[in-house]
Amino acid sequence: MKRDGLTELITAEKIAARVAELGAEISRDLAGVDELMVLCVLKGAFIFTADLVRHITIPCRIDFIRASSYGTHRISTGMVMLDHHHDPCVEGKEVLLVEDIIDTGLTFSRILEELRSQNPASLRVCTLLDKASARTVPVKADYTGFTIPDIFVVGYGLDAAGLYRELPSIAIPNA
Ligand code: 5GP
Repeated sequence: MKRDGLTELITAEKIAARVAELGAEISRDLAGVDELMVLCVLKGAFIFTADLVRHITIPCRIDFIRASSYGTHRISTGMVMLDHHHDPCVEGKEVLLVEDIIDTGLTFSRILEELRSQNPASLRVCTLLDKASARTVPVKADYTGFTIPDIFVVGYGLDAAGLYRELPSIAIPNA
């Protein structure tokens, strides 16, 4: 991918290969489950979720929740807003939460807190990217695509003020 102002970090080919591996791993671990409720965290995880579910061999019920912590900034605001307008009910369900990236861990822990209060049968988390060194809340995903350094990235669903989501690879915007 060539685009002015961006330095590629993870190629589209590497993402595709890793997403296929994650799908296979999840399918193996959850073999025997009748129905998997896949919860995509909007907006950043929409492309990852779309690709991931096509590698999961268990029947899926796909739904969406919305959380935002960055607004238009490139640094986590520390305030996580969940949109309660459309809250899928996860009670008694086998749930896979799909995240774009775990940074401080605040968004992740807020969503988990909400979902756990509804008593799902099981709750697993899959994230495409993990900035493990940026963590302020000690949380860990069950499935991780790539661990990356603490730098701001865009592409494959991730944005900078609404832009770059359509890029097929993960890239670093030049300052
Ligand atoms: P946390 O609550 O873990 O600090 O932040 C998680 C959310 O912040 C992610 O779901 C994502 O929306 C946003 N975020 C964190 N790091 C990045 C990044 O490097 N690039 C982009 N575009 N969003 C990020």
